[in-house]
Amino acid sequence: MKSSKRSLSMILLTLTLSIGGLTGCTSTDPNNTVNSETNSNDNQKQSNHQDQLDITVSIIPQKYFVKRIGGDLIKVNVMVPQGAVPDTYEPKPQQIQALSEAEAYIGIGVPFETVWMDRISQANPKLLTVDSSEGIEKLTMTDHDHDHGHDHGHSHDGEKSNLDPHVWLSPRLVKIQAENIYETLVKLDPKHQETYQTNLNNFLQEIEELDDKIRSNLSNIKQRKFIVFHPAWGYFAEEYNLTQVAVEVGGQEPSAAELGNLIKEAKEENIKVIFAQPEFSSQSAKTIAKEIEGEVLLISAINEDWSNNLLEVSQTFAKVLKEDNN
Ligand SMILES: [Zn+2]
Repeated sequence: MKSSKRSLSMILLTLTLSIGGLTGCTSTDPNNTVNSETNSNDNQKQSNHQDQLDITVSIIPQKYFVKRIGGDLIKVNVMVPQGAVPDTYEPKPQQIQALSEAEAYIGIGVPFETVWMDRISQANPKLLTVDSSEGIEKLTMTDHDHDHGHDHGHSHDGEKSNLDPHVWLSPRLVKIQAENIYETLVKLDPKHQETYQTNLNNFLQEIEELDDKIRSNLSNIKQRKFIVFHPAWGYFAEEYNLTQVAVEVGGQEPSAAELGNLIKEAKEENIKVIFAQPEFSSQSAKTIAKEIEGEVLLISAINEDWSNNLLEVSQTFAKVLKEDNN
């Protein structure tokens, strides 16, 4: 159903192009009438804008990944807007509605997808839905240390929500996501396979170089433990031999006793910087910083300029963790 509909519109499109020749913009796609966001590119791309695949992703860094592989062939919408937190986000009804225009939803396994994917599919039964984190072995969230009171050996939902969703912050894991995104684009648009393949290879090369730079930035630091409000850096820490200590406990502000323990740990380890991210209130991070006569430093975990952001984070870590050791 999905592919036959698609091939039908391909045939129609081909017909229009061959009949219409250079006049180009005649739309045979009934979905195109409500499509406002493609208009920004219309001036440069008059002849092929109706060819653009409309893809929705969950979070901002995924836009970077999809654009790296799809380039101008893809229009990307992001579900979780700037400033919102993917861990707890609830899509707006208009966003679900807007998905009736989309050809694919590329998720990344953040918690809201589990809750919303049924509704997303209902809004557009021909939508291709993909989890780009497929094939990644996920870690358990380090902050979930409270007792759930049920058998973990055989649970489903509870177990799943316990897994660390922050897979976009490890270059190695982004390689796996890139392959999955590539597969999806080729499935939707096989005639551009070569372009996607070339772009994928370039992106994998970029990730490789990024990984080398991060590794070299972090190679000489002695203090490898860091404290961060929201534990988004578990995969990053694992990859680069760092230890993440979270302020948050189970997604909540810590209790006074837990805060006391963190302050004690920070003092013992001579930690002077508590990391936080702009999307979260960092009151308890400030409290700790005050107690240890240190500071709170904001680092971005949800950034559209994914590559440069991770490089900057590694530079910040290198600087701060080196200083701590003096
Ligand atoms: Zn998070």
